[in-house]
Amino acid sequence: MESPVQASQLIALEDQYGAHNYHPLDVVIERASGAWVYDVEGRKYLDFLAAYSAVNQGHCHPAILKAFSDQAHKVTLTSRAFRNDQLPLLLKDLHDLTGFDRALPMNSGVEAVETAIKAARKWGYTVKGIPADQAEIIVCSNNFHGRTIAVVGFSSEEQYRSGFGPFAPGFRHVPLGDAEALRAAITPNTCAFLMEPIQGEAGILIPPAGYLQQVAAICRENNVLLVLDEIQSGLGRTGKLFAYQHEGITPDVVIIGKALSGGYYPVSAVLASNQVLGVFQPGDHGSTFGGNPLACAVARAALKVIVDEHLAARSAELGAYALSRLQQIKSPIIKEVRGKGLWLAIELNRPARPLCEALKDRGLLCKETHETVIRLAPPLIIEKSDLTWALDQIEAVIAQHST
Ligand SMILES: *Cc1c(COP(=O)(O)O)cnc(C)c1O
Repeated sequence: MESPVQASQLIALEDQYGAHNYHPLDVVIERASGAWVYDVEGRKYLDFLAAYSAVNQGHCHPAILKAFSDQAHKVTLTSRAFRNDQLPLLLKDLHDLTGFDRALPMNSGVEAVETAIKAARKWGYTVKGIPADQAEIIVCSNNFHGRTIAVVGFSSEEQYRSGFGPFAPGFRHVPLGDAEALRAAITPNTCAFLMEPIQGEAGILIPPAGYLQQVAAICRENNVLLVLDEIQSGLGRTGKLFAYQHEGITPDVVIIGKALSGGYYPVSAVLASNQVLGVFQPGDHGSTFGGNPLACAVARAALKVIVDEHLAARSAELGAYALSRLQQIKSPIIKEVRGKGLWLAIELNRPARPLCEALKDRGLLCKETHETVIRLAPPLIIEKSDLTWALDQIEAVIAQHST
């Protein structure tokens, strides 16, 4: 083993020269493969966060690496002032896979959320006929849609907003899971209801069965767009390609990101109908890097891995196994265990951070969310034997902390 000074030196550099906008676990990763990551001191850890579901395909997937490397040798960025030979192919792949008419590619997830908001508002004015500057968008309490000023402006999390105002108007909140509250909040000026079908950052909060169907019907009755943020829940994570497929609905707009690149590159997209994405005219919206050939080649390969390796079905099967094992753990510190596919939460009646630290010491990387929740979201390619090992570690750490 190399000198343990290395990790502490790197941590010290980061603390001294970086902004402290994160509180990471002190593991300094230098390489990764599949579900495993390796730190600078040669220790290995099973990754149970998967970069917030950006590496559903596993770290450094060879097929995505090949697409990335091949394209990096050809052309990486043209800007959309010119066309490139990869964007049309990604758009066709997205259409064939999801059934949506069109897609608009961006880079980070929050940029795609902003794009969806712009599309929904412009649809509200030009198609629905809402008076200028009066459009309203309904969102859920405890939402997480990213970190731009517009988006944190409609967060209900005080820390995300505090110190960053003033914010854009035009957003109202309803509780997740309460369809009647949505119905009551809709006005003639409502253009969209924006929501996560399962709230990830809030702690894997799953609305009651039937809620999405009710929401879809209410939106349709009122000529309101149903805009689903599937940046974290989508692309296989919950055991279906999209979480909304568990309820057999068809939303008007779907936002994807994260696993769209398998972790190689920031790629996001808005998927929608001709009528919604048709509102954009040249000059209305754009991004220097959005739709660049490197991103598109990577995204095509990343999508192909999800399909070819049946990652959604794998998530459903392994997730059901993990959930049943977690539900068998008897401990006074567990408030609730919940999950959909390989996206699980153990809600404790105490801070989760010390348990995450203890799991790290055993070689399992989990990150707490909202103080008391341990979120479990391994890459979907994880071997069952590795999953079993991880569940054993979790059981042992909970037992140790239960006295
Ligand atoms: C991660 C996430 C975002 C933001 O994506 P970034 O790439 O970090 O901008 C938005 N919505 C949801 C549901 C997310 O999980």
